[in-house]
Amino acid sequence: MQNSTQTNIIELEIDGKTVRGNQGDTILEVAKQNGIEIPTLCHMDQLEPTGACRMCLVELMENNELTTSCTRPAEDGMVVETENQRIRKARKLNLELLVSNNNEIVDCDRDEARCEFAKLLKEYDVDLDYFTGEKREHDKIEDNPFFELDHDKCILCGRCVRACEEIRGRSAIDFVGRGFETKISPPMDRSLTEGTCQFCGQCVDSCPTGALTSKMRIKKGDPSDLEKHSTICTYCGIGCRMNVYTRDNEVVDVSPDPEAPANDIRICSKGRFGFDFVNREDRLKTPLVKKDGDFTEATWNEALDLVSNKLTDIKESSGSDSIAGLSSATCTNEENFLFQKFMRAAIGTNNVDHCARLCHASTVAGLVRAFGSGAMTNSIAEIKNADTILVTGSNTTESHPIIGLEVVKAVENGANLIVADPREIDLVKENECLHLRQNSGTDVAWMMGLINIILEENLWDKDFVESRTEEFEEMKKSALDYPPERVEEITGIKKEKLRKAARIYANADRASILFAMGITQHSHGTDNVLAAANLAMITGNVGKESTGVNPLRGQNNVQGACDLGALPNVYSGYQNVEVKENQKKFEKLWEKQLSPDPGLTVVEIVNEAGKGNVKGMYIMGENPMVSDPDLGHVEDCLNNLNFLVVQDIFMTETAELADVVLPASSFLETTGSFTNTERRVQKFDQAIDPVGDSKPDWQIISELSTKMGYPLNYSSAEQITDEIAEVTPIYTGITAERIDDKQGLQWPCVTGDCTGTKFLHEGEFSRGLGKFHALSYRAPMETPDDDYPFTLTTGRTYYHFHTRSMTGRSYGLNEMVPEPYVEINPADAESMDIDSGDKLEVTSRRGQITIKAKVTDRVPSETVFIPFHFAEAAANKLTNSVLDPVAKIPELKVAAVKIRKAD
Ligand code: SF4
Ligand code: SF4
Repeated sequence: MQNSTQTNIIELEIDGKTVRGNQGDTILEVAKQNGIEIPTLCHMDQLEPTGACRMCLVELMENNELTTSCTRPAEDGMVVETENQRIRKARKLNLELLVSNNNEIVDCDRDEARCEFAKLLKEYDVDLDYFTGEKREHDKIEDNPFFELDHDKCILCGRCVRACEEIRGRSAIDFVGRGFETKISPPMDRSLTEGTCQFCGQCVDSCPTGALTSKMRIKKGDPSDLEKHSTICTYCGIGCRMNVYTRDNEVVDVSPDPEAPANDIRICSKGRFGFDFVNREDRLKTPLVKKDGDFTEATWNEALDLVSNKLTDIKESSGSDSIAGLSSATCTNEENFLFQKFMRAAIGTNNVDHCARLCHASTVAGLVRAFGSGAMTNSIAEIKNADTILVTGSNTTESHPIIGLEVVKAVENGANLIVADPREIDLVKENECLHLRQNSGTDVAWMMGLINIILEENLWDKDFVESRTEEFEEMKKSALDYPPERVEEITGIKKEKLRKAARIYANADRASILFAMGITQHSHGTDNVLAAANLAMITGNVGKESTGVNPLRGQNNVQGACDLGALPNVYSGYQNVEVKENQKKFEKLWEKQLSPDPGLTVVEIVNEAGKGNVKGMYIMGENPMVSDPDLGHVEDCLNNLNFLVVQDIFMTETAELADVVLPASSFLETTGSFTNTERRVQKFDQAIDPVGDSKPDWQIISELSTKMGYPLNYSSAEQITDEIAEVTPIYTGITAERIDDKQGLQWPCVTGDCTGTKFLHEGEFSRGLGKFHALSYRAPMETPDDDYPFTLTTGRTYYHFHTRSMTGRSYGLNEMVPEPYVEINPADAESMDIDSGDKLEVTSRRGQITIKAKVTDRVPSETVFIPFHFAEAAANKLTNSVLDPVAKIPELKVAAVKIRKAD
């Protein structure tokens, strides 16, 4: 990309018009800034210009020189023509040369607007046979599940090669051969860790001819009649904006939206190729009611009457608090708002929670205590400008791939990278990364150890601490208990390394902490988050650009589900249910008496179901039979319910246990908004009609509530968006109309005309002063012993998502990682005579699974890692349901297990 950091303004004439630009800009850039279009082919704004295809030729009138405008710097006083007979002739000749070696060059399988080359051939009336001669003949490359490479359509412009290298940092695709035989050769090694291709599709998106084409797209008919819709990815919390192309209610292609605020022109394999689940045959298409153990089809009326009657019976006989609901981090803001409103106003209980309890409940609890707000303090775009990044408990490149790219970009810009993780994740291979390989569950110790060193070496920010914080002395006293020697004993991190990390972090001007479930899913998860907040405050690294404490939220709308009150202790906007004024405010708005008692959390709901105290459950879009800890216990508890209704798009493992299953529409079949990990509320379009008789979740909730005597009559999702803005202070300015563009708005947005908040706590914390917390290290509740000598830790993989209800039904993603595996260190494998591929029995105090071994030094000795996605060898059969006392998050990250080779 051209660097135009200089601010000196230049003036020149282009096509007879006086225009201005910045010194250092190319002619192409100045023309573009001034609305003058110059055709390009090998050029992309995001790539270093090469001038190779010579389509962007312009004429410098001073000496009649034809020059490539993408490489030529604009100069003060220049006179440039971008269109004349000479230029057109030269461009046409270049195009004729480009087609001269190819067979099928114009048969692009995409719409003309996206097939740039076909468009140019037409515009310049190119004679395809102007140059006769030998044509290149190469085989098509088709042996991967995502895209094809048809060399006959390739013009060797190299955009794919540069996109892979410059945008994705992979260099997985390159030119091979010489002269006439030169061709593009993509890698076909499908292993993420050993190979280099991530099947992100950046090369496919950058190809101007259709030589690289998504398999989803191929043989799907005339490309000219596709409908284009702007949507937000349904997988991770980054909230990538993308365009979905559809025809006849089917998803035919996906590409990143160039106007996307969070992801620029990048998406990952899941967003690019993983939406085919929407059109899978096994989508739930009609309501189902269980009779004598089997599901039978029912009409909506029959199913909703049954749900309404059963829930009403339970409410009348056992009270409102004997019913509980799980809302969903994959549903829209509007649906989450409505679900909690239904549970609170129609059912009369605060027993409403969702899967944030299993991932970032400790983040919300910790950051609210320390800063007054439980969200990511800074924005994704700021990460690349940090000068130090501390990543802990986040396998960023796999779980949040676009943020992973931003971290890598920061390192390329010269940032220091510190990674604290028991596993050797991909980020540790980055240049000069300092890897702190702590023992699982010892995070309070190493973070307080860093603070100890920062205090000892006088590296702390006294001004910030004095003017912006409170309770420093208590925290300082507790930090003195963590000298490096003790920290080394607890964590296994060498004291010299710890000292080095402390100095790097404390000496940074802009240090950013990124974290995820690796530090939150612990019985002391809240303490871990408080330790990160202590660390940021003692060095003044919060409240300014490119710094902060940044939880990377997991599911696409987990931030929104929390914001909109799908939590047992708060209404939307974190308005506490125990505060009388809040209760009164919502009672007035909803015209219903509300419960003042906080409700039960996810694991508590399940436990109370087991005890018979929770008798009815309504689960919308969640799959606790894979996601929750100690699955054997979860199954017993759910089976103990008097009535279970599940609303989902597929027959999940949880839906199998239900009495009634309600078919919901997917995100592509509805409208609404999602809030991404950086607090950005983004609206998206409906792309296809609901599949079968399925309905959007908000409509189902409204109809059920109305049947239960609490009418919820909304004519559109937008009406709910506006109601949210009315009752939720941090969303005040986030009306349907104001987010009706591609940028969305970042909360807090507390006035009707506010433009959103890029980073939090500037000048003042949300709670006034930032609060330090004294902390003492507590070991995980279950550590290895003679009976269970291994530590089990769990996490995500790049190609799958959560309980695999969607990615498991995506053809390509599932082919990449079709089965579960357990990572085991080579030393342990050797001592137990285990090879990769061997079947192992992994047993904890709660259950046993049989699973294939993957021998790798990514995990340290005596630790094993299992991705939590697979129901057939569910890691959560083994995990521990013990809770963090504050956030009530279970200790999913550490359990003790034993291993033996299966018979
Ligand atoms: S799919 Fe992504 S990683 Fe693979 S070759 Fe293309 S750009 Fe490179
Ligand atoms: S999974 Fe995350 S990174 Fe991938 S496309 Fe979706 S939002 Fe973007």
